[in-house]
Amino acid sequence: MDTEQRHYLAPAAWVNGSWAQDVLLTAGADGLWTGVAPNASDERQRGAQRLAGPVLPGLVDAHSHAFQRAIAGLTERSDAGEDDFWSWRDRMYSAANRITPEQLEAIAAFLYSELLHAGYTHICEFHYLHNDLDGRPYAQPLEMSLALVRAAQRAGIGMTLLPTLYMRSGFAAKSLREDQRRFASTPESVLRMAEAVAGQDGHVASGVALHSLRAVDPVALREVAAAAGPQMPVHIHIAEQLREVEDCIADHGQRPVEWLLNKVALDARWNLVHATHCSEAELDGVRNQRASIVLCPSTEANLGDGIFDLPAWMGQSGSWSVGSDSHVTRSWQEELRLLEYSQRLGLRQRNVAARSALCQSSAAALFQGALEGGSAAAGRPLGGLAVGQRADFMVVDTASNALAGIPPGHLLDAIVFSSPAPGFSQVFVAGQAVPAGEPALRAGFVRAMNELWS
Ligand SMILES: [Zn+2]
Repeated sequence: MDTEQRHYLAPAAWVNGSWAQDVLLTAGADGLWTGVAPNASDERQRGAQRLAGPVLPGLVDAHSHAFQRAIAGLTERSDAGEDDFWSWRDRMYSAANRITPEQLEAIAAFLYSELLHAGYTHICEFHYLHNDLDGRPYAQPLEMSLALVRAAQRAGIGMTLLPTLYMRSGFAAKSLREDQRRFASTPESVLRMAEAVAGQDGHVASGVALHSLRAVDPVALREVAAAAGPQMPVHIHIAEQLREVEDCIADHGQRPVEWLLNKVALDARWNLVHATHCSEAELDGVRNQRASIVLCPSTEANLGDGIFDLPAWMGQSGSWSVGSDSHVTRSWQEELRLLEYSQRLGLRQRNVAARSALCQSSAAALFQGALEGGSAAAGRPLGGLAVGQRADFMVVDTASNALAGIPPGHLLDAIVFSSPAPGFSQVFVAGQAVPAGEPALRAGFVRAMNELWS
């Protein structure tokens, strides 16, 4: 057990929503910040490890289906007929229904390493591939969960595993389709998995997830939410697709978020993933019940979901985080850019995030928003460079072309909006540097891809 405090000196660091200079950062033996001191005197700087560039706090990747990394780049051809979310989902199922625990571990370990060195230091894994290929439970019910936990440990990223309840194929269905057999689960099985995974390792936490209103019946939904502990985040896919909204109205007589607000007591544990199709009244309700929203801009664009009402949500200071979801990009800068650009295209305006959040810089509004919402998604203190938060951070590579000649006051603007985005020369989780992903992780990924697709 490491009992040492660690002292770092950052020439500049993102503290509390703006850049501070000469920041002395102290991480305790428990991996949490015990000191964040800007303008440190020469005397206080003595003995601290000098970091080679400006420091940003690590971001939470609040929504991941790791196995979908195996289809990134493989669903971009148009076959005859309709091509929408539902036809994409059929192709996604072909990966879900053939991946073994070994392949899942290899794919997730490489993915998590990519995400970590891109500046996501914690992953929320929305996990519903529970059963064996034939749909029967594994002899060890945690087989697939533990493959994901080992992958996170090998990559060095923090994790909140979210075992996901998935019970039926649609609002009116009584059971799953044949091609959904691996997802079968009950409130008890999901809660048992969450309990068993928590405490596997200091950087692994757990919460619970409900796949969606169409996949979980109301009684089970309330049961899982009520049984999850006060520190456990509760995630749900909601209002991603218009068809889902229409089906919900047909079955429940209400829109999905409207139904949740009226029929389930939401609280700060709840993270509504996508929430693409919400009215302003629904967003008001989510805000009043202190729930958060998880936005996945690259996946929502890839799947043609629609455009989230960012000005309304930011205008009421709603809590939100960002997720790479299907992993068509592993860059959080690309997610934030796309979030802003989709608004600009729709509204024919510029700097929508900045104006909605009443601040000057769109990059600051977007980065700070994603940072602050990360803790709610992960159920861990991951809110940035502040005492008591986990000491996760990255050192910006100042040699990146995107930063050449940029005045210091515009550093974050260039990090987010000048692409290709600058890389990070070092990444730290819980106060300790994590070496760059080994070539072995890439080799394992390539092997798994060959097994799956050749
Ligand atoms: Zn998802």
